[in-house]
Amino acid sequence: MKETKGKLRVGIVGATGMVGQRLVSLLDAHPWFDLRLLAASRNSAGKPYREAVKGRWALGTPMPETAGRLKVLDAAELETIADAVDFVFCAVSLPKKETRALEEALARLETPVISCNSACRMLPDVPMLIPEINPGHAGVIEAQRKRLGTRRGFITVKPNCSIQTYVPALTPLLPYRPSAVVACTYQAVSGAGKTMADWPEMERNVIPFIAGEEEKSEREPLKIWGGFREGDTGIRDAEQPLISAQCVRVPVDDGHLAAVSVRFEDKPKREDILRLWREWEPAPQRMKLPSAPRPFLVYREEDDRPQPALDRDAGGGMAVVLGRLREDPVLDWRFVSLSHNTLRGAAGGSVLSAELLQAQGYLERK
Ligand code: NAP
Repeated sequence: MKETKGKLRVGIVGATGMVGQRLVSLLDAHPWFDLRLLAASRNSAGKPYREAVKGRWALGTPMPETAGRLKVLDAAELETIADAVDFVFCAVSLPKKETRALEEALARLETPVISCNSACRMLPDVPMLIPEINPGHAGVIEAQRKRLGTRRGFITVKPNCSIQTYVPALTPLLPYRPSAVVACTYQAVSGAGKTMADWPEMERNVIPFIAGEEEKSEREPLKIWGGFREGDTGIRDAEQPLISAQCVRVPVDDGHLAAVSVRFEDKPKREDILRLWREWEPAPQRMKLPSAPRPFLVYREEDDRPQPALDRDAGGGMAVVLGRLREDPVLDWRFVSLSHNTLRGAAGGSVLSAELLQAQGYLERK
């Protein structure tokens, strides 16, 4: 693991939003990263962070004192941001074109961007990281730096939060060659940057449509499971499994649940699946990265688990909780999986990616 003297200075662009607030909270007293800068839209700029998020702090834990006192910058002040920090996390609600322009501009100012946004996700030379699954994809950063003309700047992304429930569960089963996956996701309101209080239509209701989510859920796993060899200029998507996703918004504050059925080319036994889930110790756990949950996958034997209210905080909100593994009369096996969408699915997953990238030597002091 690469040693860096002192903590890296970090900023958050989009610090006032749902994911930004999680990042603020996770970076308070982080052992490797020192939160120096918060930026958001012009509406929040110039105010102390505490005032900028007044009435919309959505977490159950208090706002960290030091962050509360930081003055929020306008995210358009790119050079000021680049001068102040070694890298940034980015979680903004902007049209894709503007998000990509913002992220590439920061990268070109030699400021690596660990992004929670989807704008750059499907670019072949931008690694879409779940650190437990594809840490080697970071190798494509060299090709990306050539495209951007940078020495140290680059962008990494995390995948859509909905697939972070079932892609981790399927990964240790890849040797059995899953050929078809049918997944129905039950997604929390915080996934839309909202709370139950500011989305009255969600009260006692479900909405069977989340724009763009099903397409992302069907494509992104193939990039995560894709191939990369040193010297490649892009990630080559995996060819299977074929995935069918239906994504439904449900009246839950945090925690996305998925009901998943899978067909394998080589059907595993129940005890093999449970053993692989239990014994899997991915790279971030072996490297003892500060935000890596131990274990990553937790299997609950009870018939009525996992539940968002009871299980989303497992492993500090970074573990994926599985249950109800049983034979499927149409495909081979079915199960239920759960992950915390703003922690594992967004802010926590991004902090873990940054830890991995620092350990791999991609993030360092300017
Ligand atoms: P959100 O709560 O709506 O927050 C949006 C953030 O973007 C705020 O800080 C906002 O600042 C900032 N912003 C808006 N316009 C801006 C501009 N013109 N320039 C700079 N900053 C601007 O959204 P969110 O839920 O945190 O999501 C942020 C990103 O993370 C999105 O790309 C989303 O798809 C992704 N994501 C979200 C989740 C989730 O569970 N929520 C999960 C995975 C990924 P102001 O407060 O000043 O307006």
